[in-house]
This record gives sequence, C-alpha cells and structure tokens, in this order.
Amino acid sequence: MTAARLLIIGPQGSGKGTQGVRIADALGIPAVSTGDVFRANVKEGTELGLKVKAIIDAGDLVPDALTGEIVRDRLAQPDAAGGFLLDGYPRNLGQVGDLDGFLDERGAPLTAVIELVVPRDESIQRLSLRAAEQGRADDNAESIAKRLAIYESETAPILDVYRERGIVDQIDGVGSLDEVYARIQDALAARGVAAS
Ligand code: AMP
Repeated sequence: MTAARLLIIGPQGSGKGTQGVRIADALGIPAVSTGDVFRANVKEGTELGLKVKAIIDAGDLVPDALTGEIVRDRLAQPDAAGGFLLDGYPRNLGQVGDLDGFLDERGAPLTAVIELVVPRDESIQRLSLRAAEQGRADDNAESIAKRLAIYESETAPILDVYRERGIVDQIDGVGSLDEVYARIQDALAARGVAAS
C-alpha cells in the first residue's frame, strides 16, 4: 500500500477542486486548497485576507513565502499525518522546492501527482459558467486570461520535475464528473495508493 500524499494539478476550470475533494473524502484524507484558504480569509476579513485580496482578484500569485507558511502549518496538523491531497500548491518551481523541504522534514514525499488535462477552450468555457454561478471576483475575463497564462508559464513546468520522479498520472479531464473520477481512481489504484 502506498500512502496517499497527493497533488492534483490542472488549469483553472479543469475541475480539480471538485475532483480533489471527492478523492480526499473517499480516502479519508484532508483536501488542502490554498485558493480556498485565501478565499475564506478574504471573506472573513482577516489580516491575511486583507493582504491577499487585491492579488487574488487580479489573478496574480500570492508571494511564495506567505503561501508556503500556510501550507506548512496545514500539513503539520494531525489530520494530515496519514496523508493529504494538495490542490493549487505548488504552483511554480520555487514552491516545489519549498514543499520538498517541508516533506523532507517528515521523510514523507508526494506519492502521486494527478494531472488533469483539459483543452484551453474548455477551461475558459467552464470558468465563465462558474463565474455566472458562483460570482467569484477573480472569474472575470481579464483575471481568467492571466491565471491561465500563469498556469502555462509557471505551473505546467513543475510537472516535468514530478515526471522525472515517475509520480505523474495524466488524466483526461474531459467528460462527466463521474467519468473523470473513475479515471483518477483507476490511476491511483494502479499505484496502490490508499489512506494509511
Ligand atoms: P485557485 O482557487 O487555486 O485557482 O486559487 C485562487 C487564487 O489564489 C490564485 O489565482 C492565486 O491568486 C491564489 N493562490 C492559490 N494558490 C496559490 C499558490 N500556491 N501560490 C500563489 N498564489 C496562490
């Protein structure tokens, strides 16, 4: 059995948030989404929220040091000891190095990276739909374009690092929620990934 220390990665609008929560629930591990942490803090008007609101609304990345601190604290919570699923972190090569550092301290590296592959047109279409449904401040045309550009220039390259480690599963993200979920389940099962 392989411990479930997972990362789900894909462009905005790939469905990674939804799939991530579903996988984490099935495995009994926490889903750790940096975007959700930031949004909750903005909503509650905390000091962190006030610091990051303008950055998030513009579709830019929050500084690595600040983001890293949040992830490190979250992964140190007892419920993450047996496994976790990261969504939205790491997002650039610097954050990959930071995360390696946190996980090395525990001798517990990532065991699988789920890459959701969705064509750009489909991502944009899904994001526009979500904007209409959820009214997220960063789901406007300008911010969407910036976030997808950052994904392609900064986030996609981190997959090469994980590919070299042999832990990436490429999953076709086009299809119904159930279809995509079944593909992810198959890939994880093939790695023997289960909650410990
Ligand atoms: P998400 O929900 O993952 O799309 O994240 C929403 C926004 O939160 C992003 O556009 C960034 O502004 C910020 N954010 C989330 N995760 C990170 C991260 N790992 N590094 C920097 N900024 C982040």
